Amino acid sequence: MKVVNKISLWIYSALLFTFLIGCTSGNNSQTSSEETVPQVFTEEMQSETTPEEALEMLKTGNQRFVSGDLKYKDYRKQFEQTAKGQYPHSTVFACIDSRSSAEQFLDVGIGEIFKVRIAGNTVNEDVLGSMEFATQVAGSKVLAVIGHTSCGAVKGAIDDAELGHLTQLVDKIKPAMEQVPDSIQPRTSSNQEFVDMVTKNHIQNVLAEIQNRSEVISNQVESGSIKLVGGMYDLSTGEVTFFE
Ligand SMILES: [Zn+2]
Repeated sequence: MKVVNKISLWIYSALLFTFLIGCTSGNNSQTSSEETVPQVFTEEMQSETTPEEALEMLKTGNQRFVSGDLKYKDYRKQFEQTAKGQYPHSTVFACIDSRSSAEQFLDVGIGEIFKVRIAGNTVNEDVLGSMEFATQVAGSKVLAVIGHTSCGAVKGAIDDAELGHLTQLVDKIKPAMEQVPDSIQPRTSSNQEFVDMVTKNHIQNVLAEIQNRSEVISNQVESGSIKLVGGMYDLSTGEVTFFE
């Protein structure tokens, strides 16, 4: 049994090494043997991954998405291999926008990232609870809050949208409007520059709010066991710009 575990650990280490080498070597062309290796993130890989390495995986995954050089994914093998457990390296908090799907724009497979999704990346207690589970309990190393360009929820805040429960949701975005310099005109939802600046400010506010409201998360950030990072996904280029 121990021998089997050792062999498994060696295989996982080799996979992680191959993956990391692939991440750092730029436009390396995939070989057919690499393409046949299922990419499943294991407990060993999760425990050996640092927050910095996990963030690097998100960045290189987005680079693959932009270039179209997507990592091989056999979803059938992946769901079979992840059925008994999950060890995601990261957690992504994103908008519900149908064009802003983190698995796609970060080029990750089944079991690699937790997702929390809500219109306009707004925070509530259940969102915080989900993030606390994904990091402290389930061991993911990065908590990335990723907004996107032309966000409908942000436009709703700018337009003072009122509808059922949506009213209180967009209210949470409004403080970010005041933080945009007066020189940016017109301050309307049809000005994409203004919309995107409001969104960036809002993501910064959300990063602060998460730490202010969740001791569980702020403690992990302070100890360095997780990395909290913001980002913007550009719908027209496919690129994620991380705020660091
Ligand atoms: Zn949105």
